Amino acid sequence: MPTVSLTLIRPGDDAPELFWARRCADRSFLGGFHAFFAGGVEPVDRDIADHFEFDDAALRVAAIRETFEECGLLFGNGEIQRYSRSERTDEVVANAGRNLDLERLEPLGWWRMPKFLDVAYTTAFFGVRLTEGEAAQVDDLADQLDESEFDSGQWIDATQALEKWHRGEVFLTKPIHCLVDTVAAADGVPKSFPSPESFGETPKRAGTSAAGEICGGVVMLPLKTPTLPPATHTNCIVVGKQQLVVIDPGPSDPDDLAPLLDHLERRDGRLEAIALTHHHPDHVGGVQALTERWDVPVIAHPKTLELLPDIASLRTGAIDDGDTIEVDHPGELVAHFTPGHAPGHLAFHQPDIDMVIGGDLVASRGTIIVDPPEGDMGDYLESLHRVLEMNPRVLMPAHGQMTTRPAELLQHYIDHRKMREQKVVDALEQFGPATTEQLVPKVYEDAPKAVYPIAERSLLAHLLDLQQRQIAQQSDGCWLLVIGC
Ligand SMILES: [Zn+2]
Repeated sequence: MPTVSLTLIRPGDDAPELFWARRCADRSFLGGFHAFFAGGVEPVDRDIADHFEFDDAALRVAAIRETFEECGLLFGNGEIQRYSRSERTDEVVANAGRNLDLERLEPLGWWRMPKFLDVAYTTAFFGVRLTEGEAAQVDDLADQLDESEFDSGQWIDATQALEKWHRGEVFLTKPIHCLVDTVAAADGVPKSFPSPESFGETPKRAGTSAAGEICGGVVMLPLKTPTLPPATHTNCIVVGKQQLVVIDPGPSDPDDLAPLLDHLERRDGRLEAIALTHHHPDHVGGVQALTERWDVPVIAHPKTLELLPDIASLRTGAIDDGDTIEVDHPGELVAHFTPGHAPGHLAFHQPDIDMVIGGDLVASRGTIIVDPPEGDMGDYLESLHRVLEMNPRVLMPAHGQMTTRPAELLQHYIDHRKMREQKVVDALEQFGPATTEQLVPKVYEDAPKAVYPIAERSLLAHLLDLQQRQIAQQSDGCWLLVIGC
């Protein structure tokens, strides 16, 4: 099912302006990113489309309807009409029917969302150029946004928009960046839209790119890895403009690593280093191939370096808590020691953007394994608290989407582990002394049986942590509460 996106462009004082809005941080799809009006094609759009000759009439109607719903602007009867939030009903669009101004929409091209977004959307992009006369009528568009979709919006000179992106103040997906770039490059409202290599002319030939420079100098490149379901990819991050640092090149399979190699070959920049959050195979699988191609050091915590395969053949650089990695733009990365999931786990903080590249500290979906002896629940909780105290603006997990609400996600993880710990204590109280095998169905009664083997490892991590804190103890292979607890 295709989706549609509509970009409004108006003549500005010096340069064309476009209207963009920030998607609410809690939106599961691209929360916190700046975007245009967008949505899916509904049955009502197809009904209305029957009145029109355009091949893509349903898409055009959908784009007009979504814009109407999201900001109250309707293109009908040869003019723009404004509607307050309470007036935006389905009937308005249905009644406008054959009077909708479909011809005002210019098709800009097709784009298929890359896999890391977990959606199979193919999007038709449209643009509408407003006239000088119309420009003044839509000054207050930001006040009219659907607050369930967007938390802010503005008319912005496209050049300024690009600067905001460059400085990491806003995040853009590749097609949105491409459109902003085109408007910025145009002298006046652009006469043509993005080049065929970025947008496709048909859905089948839709442009797509796994690599998105979500803000200046930060490329998110999800690569297919043999990771733990439901995750299928590991986010490889390429930081820098001319001097590049690759974080967590996951795949060992050459086909899966190819998008990263292609990306690095295409950039004029030099690869300076490979940095690792930790030693797990889905984070380091590409190290060997990269170091064979580029003679660069592998930078990681000493405990990670110790656990790397083929360590003898690598040039390494050990870093620890507080150490920095040089990056030309957006600026240096600061390492934060965050063990628990893995003994040498580091999270990298980029202070200028206030972004944490979090490795396997959290995931936007699924769970993080804490498997003893490598995993340590006490350390893990402490690491979550450490990053929570940093209160970063953005967090990029190794699996899933970035979040602009890191504190909420981290707190959720802490609460979830604490809830599970309480279940462990309750189960020990009721059923102890008991083996981990006996405890799993009690502690994980909410989980499907298939995950019990993994759950048992987490349970053991909780028990060892409780033992460390002298709340639980082990006797004859059974676990029980410490008397008096
Ligand atoms: Zn891991």
